Amino acid sequence: MRATTLFNNVLDLDGITVADVTVGTDQVNVAVRLCRRRLLCPEPDCGFSTRWRADTRPADSSWRSLDMGSRKVIVTARLRRLDCPDHGVLVEQVPFARHRARFTRDFEDLVAWCASKTDKTAVCRLLRIAWLTVGAIVERVVADGLDPHRLDGLVSIGVDEISWKKRHNYLTVVVDHATGDVIWTGPGKDAAALDAFFAELGPQRSAGLTAISMDMGKAYPKSARKDGHAPQAEICWDPFHVVAMGAKAMDTVRRVHWNQLRATTDPHTARRFKGARWALLKNPADLSDRQTDALAAIKRTGSAVWRAYRGKEALRAIFAGDLDPQEVTGLLDRWCGWAQRSRLEAFVKLGRTIREHRHGILAAIRLGLSNGRVEGRNAGIRLIARRAWGFHSAEAAAAMIMLTHGPITLDLPYEK
Ligand SMILES: [Zn+2]
Repeated sequence: MRATTLFNNVLDLDGITVADVTVGTDQVNVAVRLCRRRLLCPEPDCGFSTRWRADTRPADSSWRSLDMGSRKVIVTARLRRLDCPDHGVLVEQVPFARHRARFTRDFEDLVAWCASKTDKTAVCRLLRIAWLTVGAIVERVVADGLDPHRLDGLVSIGVDEISWKKRHNYLTVVVDHATGDVIWTGPGKDAAALDAFFAELGPQRSAGLTAISMDMGKAYPKSARKDGHAPQAEICWDPFHVVAMGAKAMDTVRRVHWNQLRATTDPHTARRFKGARWALLKNPADLSDRQTDALAAIKRTGSAVWRAYRGKEALRAIFAGDLDPQEVTGLLDRWCGWAQRSRLEAFVKLGRTIREHRHGILAAIRLGLSNGRVEGRNAGIRLIARRAWGFHSAEAAAAMIMLTHGPITLDLPYEK
């Protein structure tokens, strides 16, 4: 079979003919020609086409395609320019690559699929591209494949902040509780960040919201309650944030105790206690044997740290998801009573915070925003946000989250 015929089949290029194939040591060059008469505007969703060229200057373009063995495949074409009434003078669209891409659609889909499945080092080594390039590709693939109706018919949503880089770079992430999909992401974590979501949602769709769950902060509710946003929606406080606050309170007690130990006893005891930190923070079911021993030793002392540990675990059990709303209400009130009497400053404070937010916490339970499900999804999003560290922009990090947790169909080139 002639190489050109082979590539006509392999590349599956509709309306394209392969003019020439050159096989080098590291690279295969495939020169193609567009057979269609009309020039199409390359901007997504434009649809403008014309028979007239804007000028006669040729626009030589090239794209990297799927590798052939160890050789990179480079597709080249001599394209024409058109004058779109909306977008100006642009190089015509090609069916096998996205606008402004230096890679074919197939190659980009493969990159996005890999980036959603595995880590930075593996993706860069396997596909021989820089991580920054992966960020740009993910942005294009997501813009292309995201469900355009993802903001329709929303009833109950969750809002959360995710850090995507060291040094306080945050994204606001909105989840549809009905599907579990991330439906919107935007830079920042303040009221303005959520304002941008409501601006995109519009007043009509915002009016359909009945519940919004979030972390106990002031910024998001401020945006949600504005006119034209969703003042009618019930604000719910995510139970898993409450559980996280319990762990934080316990850690405060532990730190205070450790500082006292360090000042009054021998360094060996203090050091041993410091090592018990993870035993205290982990769920009992996940402890190693050594950590279980460390925990037993703390229990024997009956110290403030042990009481704090019990308090943290009790709070976790209340929101574990296996109790009905009535049981949760009773236990939470009892827990707040205990916290008030605990003589542990951090827990007295936490008890007060929980009492102040009681209505919204119980609303989340009543609406079935189960702790385990929300927390699991949140952990997944955080993991992906970490993978996006090193991307050039918040937009690329946001696209990475949409790629893995959004309503998007992502196929491999040979699955289409
Ligand atoms: Zn156009």
